[in-house]
Amino acid sequence: MRVDVDRAKCCGAGMCTLTEPLVFDQSPEDGTVVLLRPHPPEELWDSVEECARVCPSQAISLDEHA
Ligand code: SF4
Repeated sequence: MRVDVDRAKCCGAGMCTLTEPLVFDQSPEDGTVVLLRPHPPEELWDSVEECARVCPSQAISLDEHA
């Protein structure tokens, strides 16, 4: 799986960081998302998918075949 984030769309709600802090963090400057692991290990895929679902800005995209 490959994860991409669009920081221009991100509103800094922080749902992703709360849901999966091993993959997502927030910038200390403006609170927008920081992607820590673009290729998360398989055991994190379920929670990464949950992050993409709950993101209010639809700023997280996933390529499950990459
Ligand atoms: S959940 Fe979405 S809007 Fe909120 S910080 Fe993460 S990427 Fe940004």
